[in-house]
Amino acid sequence: MRQLDGRALAAEITQELKATSADLAAAGVVPTLAIVLFGEDAAAGSYVRSITRTAETIDVRCVPRRVPGETTAEQFLAVIDELDADPAVHGVVVQSPFPPGLGGVTLDGHLSPAKDVDGATAASLGRLVEERDGHVPATAAAVVEILDRAGVEIRGAHAVVVGRSTVVGKPTALLLLARDATVTICHLETVDLAAVTRQADILVVAIGDPRFIRPEHVRPGAAVIDVGINFHEGRLVGDVDYEAVAAVAGALTPVPGGVGPLTAAMLLRNVLTAAASA
Ligand code: NAP
Repeated sequence: MRQLDGRALAAEITQELKATSADLAAAGVVPTLAIVLFGEDAAAGSYVRSITRTAETIDVRCVPRRVPGETTAEQFLAVIDELDADPAVHGVVVQSPFPPGLGGVTLDGHLSPAKDVDGATAASLGRLVEERDGHVPATAAAVVEILDRAGVEIRGAHAVVVGRSTVVGKPTALLLLARDATVTICHLETVDLAAVTRQADILVVAIGDPRFIRPEHVRPGAAVIDVGINFHEGRLVGDVDYEAVAAVAGALTPVPGGVGPLTAAMLLRNVLTAAASA
């Protein structure tokens, strides 16, 4: 079994991004990402730390913009409007999930596709469906990047994506489809999940259930990408039972150190693209 080392790949990518960033600096552009945060959430803190740490190494400026957890939709969207109109800001990312008071609120019509560097708006997702240029959600991009850099053939492969969220499962499935995989999406209503996942050459798991995927879900030799991030029994684990599945899979991402580190790199790549075309 080959462990797919997300940290090493992220280091490789940030090295490449440095060249883009240097070109922008030479043209007098300071690539800038605004990060909208609600209150003082610890989980958001670690994701944001990962983004800001990586950003520092490639000279992308991160501007945290904290809004109170009990903000109203009007106040929150006024902040998004302000950032969208600010020529010094090239990209905007908003902490997820939104606080309960903002249930049902979207960035649609407030964040323009050019600045939607995490592909969170309906406009960006629509472009993904239509296979038009646009920012792709960073986690989905990270999944495909890992497969590409590991030399896993996507074209013609049967890719099974477990999880159908708008932020991870669906965009990942669409990206794999755009790369000519045959894609199956599974969810809680899928009958006999293991029978479906065992057909996968590429198995992507994004469900938020600690160590749920076991060897019986995996076809021998399959490439397994674990997107899950779960705090379980005092430690960080994925949605895949790593030790058990390692005995069956051909390639497997660990958690931590798999998809996570690449997600920040993919987001920052989008910021550089946005800055270059602003
Ligand atoms: P989510 O919105 O809760 O969606 C979970 C999806 O998984 C749903 O579609 C659900 O099905 C499905 N599901 C849950 N349990 C299942 C099961 N036992 N069998 C089959 N399907 C099941 O979660 P999310 O935002 O997509 O996140 C998923 C995981 O990825 C979480 O652990 C999250 O922390 C992690 N994550 C990681 C990154 C990263 O960069 N590495 C980024 C974002 C999220 P239904 O639709 O039927 O309910």
